[in-house]
Amino acid sequence: MTGEQYLFLPGPTPLPERVIMAMSRSMINHRGPEFKEILYRVTSGIKQVYHTNQNVLIFPASGSGAMEAAVVNFISPGDKVLAVSIGVFGDRFAKIAGTFGAQVEKMDFAMGKPADPDAVIDRLRADNKKEIKAVLITHNETSTGVYNDIKKIKAGMADHPALFMVDAVSSLAALELKMDEWGLDVVVSGSQKAFMVPPGLSFLAFSEKALKVHQSFKNTSFYWDITAGLNYLDKGQTPYTPALSLFYGLDEALKMMEEEGLDNILLRHKDYRDMVRGAVKAMGLQLLADEDNASTAVTSVIGPANIEADTIRKYMLEKFNIVLAGGQQSLANVIFRIGHLGYVRQLDLLAVLSALEITLEKLGYPINKGAGLIKAQEFISKRLD
Ligand SMILES: *Cc1c(COP(=O)(O)O)cnc(C)c1O
Repeated sequence: MTGEQYLFLPGPTPLPERVIMAMSRSMINHRGPEFKEILYRVTSGIKQVYHTNQNVLIFPASGSGAMEAAVVNFISPGDKVLAVSIGVFGDRFAKIAGTFGAQVEKMDFAMGKPADPDAVIDRLRADNKKEIKAVLITHNETSTGVYNDIKKIKAGMADHPALFMVDAVSSLAALELKMDEWGLDVVVSGSQKAFMVPPGLSFLAFSEKALKVHQSFKNTSFYWDITAGLNYLDKGQTPYTPALSLFYGLDEALKMMEEEGLDNILLRHKDYRDMVRGAVKAMGLQLLADEDNASTAVTSVIGPANIEADTIRKYMLEKFNIVLAGGQQSLANVIFRIGHLGYVRQLDLLAVLSALEITLEKLGYPINKGAGLIKAQEFISKRLD
């Protein structure tokens, strides 16, 4: 198939032309005045997206890098941590903590469901001796398309001193998150999801409280060390060579985000979710996530009986050049996922929904062709009133 792919993954996401152009620049001295300006501008832009006045460091890494940075900087070997998991990325956070010697107590919830806030809060209330040093939780679980009510859980912790550490890689700028107001201690994100930048930068935001915890134990990492990161940031530098091209792209993406306005961006993602869910339901297909906690970043669709989810994905790719994500672990070949975060436009989603209807028809599903599409068109029309 000729032409560019239509990328509907929950990361990496499509890139705006402006970001692509911004990255086609020569290198500059990463210890010079020009980079200092970019670093400060970008760091301050990211803080606005996090709604924080505290600390943000940028690492040359995928999102998992900042997750590891969170663990090695704020959790000591032997520390007891409560890892709340509702899917693949919750499992990953727990695994990283275990890898670095934390005593991990895992609270698993069924894939496709959010964590029950009361169950998590009760577990922390039962910790009379305050042995739990950190709570690890995913904001938006990308593998299922479900988000957790982290605001409620954090509020319910009341005076429990554990650090509240959030994986917000696929939620930041796609779903409301207010780091300081909600009292989040460590929040991780990355460039290739809602930020409209290629993979390769990850963000670590941390509170003053977390910084104190970090300073109270001996850090064992060079690459992720936040003390070094903060010291260099004071000088307008990073401890080692930054991914300069990605900084150019991020700088431009943050400008675009400022022009659009964060509230509008969040609203746009909510609209994508509602539009896609409405259309898919009108096609007679089932959604994995319930209404209440359905992700604004990605929608998981359960394949119809007798048609494997991966067969649908394969047909979409071969005939339309449309890339959808598959299911992982127990959901492999059961669901397919439509990513709708970052630089996705409404009309792009209309194309996907239209192609999905044709695909379903060709694969023998009794589709009432046009039903989903009309639903989506009505959704767009209403927004224009
Ligand atoms: C994408 C993602 C990550 C990071 O994955 P990388 O492949 O390391 O960038 C972590 N958590 C969530 C919830 C994600 O969606």
